[in-house]
Amino acid sequence: MSKQFSVHELKSVIQYIAKNIRKQDFLTYFKKISLIKLENGIVTYGVISGFYRDNLLKKYYEEIKGASIEIFPEITGIDIIVDTDIENSENKNVIDCHNEMKEVGAKKKKEDIYGVEVVDGINSRLINDRYHLDNFIVGPFTQLAHAACDAVSRRPGSSYNPLYVYGNVGLGKTHLLQGTANVIKEKHKNLKVVYTTADRFLTDYVANVKSRTLDKYRDKYRSIDVLVIDDVQFLAGKEQTQTELYNIFNILYEAGKQIILSGDRPPKELTNLEPRLQSRFEWGITVDVGDPDFETRLAILQSKAQAREFIIDQKVAEFIAEHVTTNVREIEWVLNQIIAEYDLRGTPPTLENVALRLSKLSVKTLTQTIGSQTRVSRTSNCSYEDLIRTVSEHFGIEIKAIIGEDRRKENMIPRQLAMYLLKNRLDYTYERIGNIFSQRNHTAVMYSCKKLEQVMKKDQQVVYELNLIRDKLGI
Ligand code: ADP
Ligand code: MG
Repeated sequence: MSKQFSVHELKSVIQYIAKNIRKQDFLTYFKKISLIKLENGIVTYGVISGFYRDNLLKKYYEEIKGASIEIFPEITGIDIIVDTDIENSENKNVIDCHNEMKEVGAKKKKEDIYGVEVVDGINSRLINDRYHLDNFIVGPFTQLAHAACDAVSRRPGSSYNPLYVYGNVGLGKTHLLQGTANVIKEKHKNLKVVYTTADRFLTDYVANVKSRTLDKYRDKYRSIDVLVIDDVQFLAGKEQTQTELYNIFNILYEAGKQIILSGDRPPKELTNLEPRLQSRFEWGITVDVGDPDFETRLAILQSKAQAREFIIDQKVAEFIAEHVTTNVREIEWVLNQIIAEYDLRGTPPTLENVALRLSKLSVKTLTQTIGSQTRVSRTSNCSYEDLIRTVSEHFGIEIKAIIGEDRRKENMIPRQLAMYLLKNRLDYTYERIGNIFSQRNHTAVMYSCKKLEQVMKKDQQVVYELNLIRDKLGI
């Protein structure tokens, strides 16, 4: 083995990959990885099982190869094999990819908190460059908002000032605000654009009060050209911060600088906000983003799928658009589930399996609509012992930790997951599951299953883990 390509370089390779692929995908596909050898320019990595090897080779061959070459240019190719020694704690050539992800995360978090310094002392929070005014699908209830953003992006400071966008959660306010900021940066390269959230604005304010730099801080705002503040409703009740915003607002406004704001309701209804601030928010134009209608939901779904190079049959897309009516974020979330399902299990989205998946993911409206015809027949031979053993191996924790009573966090999700699968995939009753898990009461089991459902709504990683375990068990 070459002396220079050590586990240290492997760590850099993994961190490089962690930075460049989606977090959920990374967490799903990259677990433990070992360095086996580097011979004739080919580096061989080891993973825990054939399942992971095949998935990595199928999905991430190019990324792993590219990252390896990037870190160590003498490499010309890669190979991945199953390493039977990977669980050996003495083996110094193994790294845990999730730890490397945390490293990357910690670095990124720092950037996230402090943002990018646009003007000396004033930071703009990271703007997602995927948000653009061009990829915002305009529907009848967002037409005005989009047109106003478009006008402001063409002539910041002179069309509508301030621009205030409001609407319910998940309907595209952040997309519009960041999209406008991105377009302004593209069109007017010399302008200094600062995007922040009301929350961050508050944190920055408090920090400057503490360090007694408020005067200077306020002065610095004079040199920015566009100030974007998302979710101003969070300033409710924060009187001093409101005063500060009022001052900054005046400084910028008088200098003809553009101000763009968003809130969850019209300025008038922002109770707990100083009336003078409310009225300033109304000086320019206030526009709302409303619920998208069926056609718009369908167009959004198709455009998001297209952006990810994923094809959805028209009927399936219509089905989703018809049933997922809550908000756009939910539509995106369903799309992510479908893509994950396809990636992990190779199942293309058909009307039946999408309906089934949606009902499993407790999209409320659907559960009633699909009803009994989509219940799967459970003919699996999988026993509860198989299931618990697989969960234990998957998470690398002991069986007794899963069925026991230990309330440590790292055991909770695996335990809830095992219970959930017994209930939902193997049709065990809560009572029977309770008996397996240290004689727990059936309501405790029910609570655990419900808890997991809630976690899955927020944390896609758990959904992925669940799918991986189902794959292993064939349930
Ligand atoms: P809000 O800030 O209003 O809570 P977001 O802007 O975060 O909502 O929107 C949630 C998600 O839905 C984002 O990923 C956004 O890109 C997407 N989205 C919302 N409305 C649209 C739209 N009209 N066209 C395209 N994507 C949209
Ligand atoms: Mg938002």
